[in-house]
Amino acid sequence: MMKLPVYLDNHSTTPVDKRVVEAMLPYFTEHFGNAASRHHSFGWQAEVAVEHARKVLARSVNAEPKEIIFTSGATEANNLALKGIAESLRGKGRHIITSKTEHRSVLDVCGVLEKSGYRVTVVDVDRYGIVHPETIREAMTDETILVSVMMANNEIGTLAPISEIGRLCLERGVLLHTDATQSLGKIPIDVQALNIHLMSMSAHKIYGPKGVGALYVRAQNPRVQLTQQMDGGGHERGMRSGTMNVPAIVGFGVAVEIACEEMTKESVRVGGLRDRLEKMLLSVDSASRNGHPSNRLYNNLNVTFPYVRADGLMAKLKKDAAFSSGSACSSADLEAGHASHVLTAIGVDEDAARNTIRIGLGRFTTQEEIDFAGAKIVEAVNNIRSQSPQYAIENKEKNHGAVVS
Ligand SMILES: *Cc1c(COP(=O)(O)O)cnc(C)c1O
Repeated sequence: MMKLPVYLDNHSTTPVDKRVVEAMLPYFTEHFGNAASRHHSFGWQAEVAVEHARKVLARSVNAEPKEIIFTSGATEANNLALKGIAESLRGKGRHIITSKTEHRSVLDVCGVLEKSGYRVTVVDVDRYGIVHPETIREAMTDETILVSVMMANNEIGTLAPISEIGRLCLERGVLLHTDATQSLGKIPIDVQALNIHLMSMSAHKIYGPKGVGALYVRAQNPRVQLTQQMDGGGHERGMRSGTMNVPAIVGFGVAVEIACEEMTKESVRVGGLRDRLEKMLLSVDSASRNGHPSNRLYNNLNVTFPYVRADGLMAKLKKDAAFSSGSACSSADLEAGHASHVLTAIGVDEDAARNTIRIGLGRFTTQEEIDFAGAKIVEAVNNIRSQSPQYAIENKEKNHGAVVS
């Protein structure tokens, strides 16, 4: 039996895989120790578990365990990376480059840094959401200390040319940070080959628990020095004080392991379902896709239905399917009455942005669900349009002059 509503908002968060829950459970009860307690077996057990997860996570991106700092999520990792580098390299330069389609937790941190005397260049992206390395090269000055470009966008799924940007940063002696929250476990990541210096990750986007993430910080060639943003007991080599969330870290490790093991198989299966849904949705008159046609996450689908407000569509379908408008992550955009900053950046006008939905398929999405949700969305779009006087007037010819009352 299919459970309703069908969950299609996996860019926002994912259910925890049962295998992950199983692995976490003992660390709430029997193995509840504090990983920083060095004097008894409770502490040791917890530490062993944390170090195992660290090793798994490091290996999955071709890093060393000591290069992983566990955090409360990608928001914290982004804060630590940007503020930590800005502070530690203050004497070297005060210019940071990022892009218009970054997650709020990068853009807002850049805003804060600007207020404390840094200069930030936010480069444009093209109509597919791609950040061109050339625009970054042009923005670079002798003062530039850091470039922050996300690996995959959380709204339109577009993948950045990180390898080229990495080469450019290497050439110019500038550090590269990437927010890999949406790409971890979905595409192969090799921090060495890509010349990445810092990388943010999160567990709850890959079927792990909420409230845990990590920052990769390169230890060699060059050794990246970061100023900690959380002071206290000196956990995580002083980089992030606070008692470690052992069950969550254990879960993160298992989630990464599963995601990497199943990566190829899942990209084919889920990618196939996404293409199937895309075909259904794009068959609607004047519907269009946002993002790159092929160079994007296999589970992403972002579609504009002219004349159909996303909030109205979501409300109409609330019992059938759960997805989001432009961006659920940046409710700040919505509250401020703005359209999604990502859609605006790729040239979608404010009105079209309001008629846009974002769908994120996932590990537990089935073909039955896709066929059901796809049909419901198409039906609802047509239904809303049939009651829209504006649609009737502007599409008179298409509809053979039939004006719906
Ligand atoms: C979800 C998300 C974040 C925030 O991650 P949290 O772990 O929820 O703080 C940051 N960046 C991107 C690209 C995301 O998709």
